[in-house]
Amino acid sequence: MPTKILIPTPLRAYTAKKDAVDVNGRTVAEALGDLTLQFADLRPHLFTEDGRLRSFVNVYVNDEDIRYLQRDATPLTAGDVVSIVPSVAGGVSSADPAEAIVARELPALTNDEVKRYSRHLIMPEVGVDGQRKLKAARVLCIGAGGLGSPAALYLAAAGVGRLGIVDFDTVDFSNLQRQILHGTPDVGRSKLQSAKDRLTAINPEIQIDTYETALTSKNALALFRDYDVILDGTDNFPTRYLVNDACVLLGKPNAYGSIFRFEGQASVFAYPGGPCYRCLYPEPPPPGLVPSCAEGGVLGVLPGVIGTIQATETIKLILGAGQPLVGRLLLYDALNMRFRELKLRRDPACPICGDHPTIRELIDYDQFCGVAPAAAGAAKADLPPELETTVEELKARLDRGDRPFILDVREPNEYQISRIAGSILIPLGELPKRIAELPVGADIVVHCKMGGRSAKAVRQLVDRGFTNVKNLKGGILAWSDRVDPTVAKY
Ligand SMILES: [Zn+2]
Repeated sequence: MPTKILIPTPLRAYTAKKDAVDVNGRTVAEALGDLTLQFADLRPHLFTEDGRLRSFVNVYVNDEDIRYLQRDATPLTAGDVVSIVPSVAGGVSSADPAEAIVARELPALTNDEVKRYSRHLIMPEVGVDGQRKLKAARVLCIGAGGLGSPAALYLAAAGVGRLGIVDFDTVDFSNLQRQILHGTPDVGRSKLQSAKDRLTAINPEIQIDTYETALTSKNALALFRDYDVILDGTDNFPTRYLVNDACVLLGKPNAYGSIFRFEGQASVFAYPGGPCYRCLYPEPPPPGLVPSCAEGGVLGVLPGVIGTIQATETIKLILGAGQPLVGRLLLYDALNMRFRELKLRRDPACPICGDHPTIRELIDYDQFCGVAPAAAGAAKADLPPELETTVEELKARLDRGDRPFILDVREPNEYQISRIAGSILIPLGELPKRIAELPVGADIVVHCKMGGRSAKAVRQLVDRGFTNVKNLKGGILAWSDRVDPTVAKY
């Protein structure tokens, strides 16, 4: 039975960049079997070693999750579309936020506010009462980055009376491509100060609460308690599970969004009767399997679309208007300009929002997601000192006429941005197949952007019997900082 399987961006590296693959099979298991027969490298990303579908990978037939059909025995008929939806780097007891807001005394609007919000006031779905609800509402944005930027701008402009923002970062040049809360003069400032200035300029009538801190299991419940809706603009798995769990425990709806390259997801979790993020993805992917935006990149306008959807859902929840994005996962594919919607259900066996929850308080999310503290340095720290070299040592060797084989294991588009003169490019993913291109017995220095990927490459080479291999600590960024500033940093 010919069936089409849609391949999400993070997995296209293993399907020769194809976004859809035609397969044969009478069931989902057979179709996925055929897919991994055609693309063997994909198999470890979809299945565990004992052949079970990994729990952070969801499979849909048309718009239905196979967990609610016949799992991998689900039969396929001609024309069915199978989607693979992995989690990307994003409440039974909840109260309806609109009801909670109405229970407060709604503040009156001043004449200035009537002028400012007049285009809302003349809409029957908002009106004076709706605008007063917005003024009474309290929304907490987690992050003032890609998703938090458009979301906070629109929520402030719309007149949400109290807008909290949690962030501890400073504005970097590389943020400006998508984080439209911040401008070039803000580079180096705290994101919160920059955000507060910009939001106050848009709407001085509202209160902006800033929390210059990392969100942790220790502070999340206290921070969330005062707010009606939590808008999740996080970019990593530990914080996403933390936001989800804190929302479920407190009964606060979670306007969720996540982005990667050209694709985004949005939903509303922890709404009365609706599912939570853990119903969708009970477990996070192992570290390193799903790249983050910093590693994989993101189209600058993409968070504009997803963050604006999160803000739209937040406003609808406050107004109690329309159909919230509850029990539905909205998928946005910017490259093909296509929205799709998948059904989500609350999982009665969900460990936090299920009928018999096993998680009753916030846990250690770094540990849950397999992220060791200071994970960034961990891969490099694993190498013994004799397998490492510094940029100064490499420079001194080149100056005295040594010619080590400089192996660059970054991606071709990174190589195009900047390179160390004389280096040879073999991306880390291609190294096992192309190992024969390395001269036998050569003296090899391996580098990448910061030293993480090259440390993995050094380990692979040592395992293959190479005896004279060293990792360039700090990668090409250190080379640019300490040896050759003409090499562009990215
Ligand atoms: Zn759940």
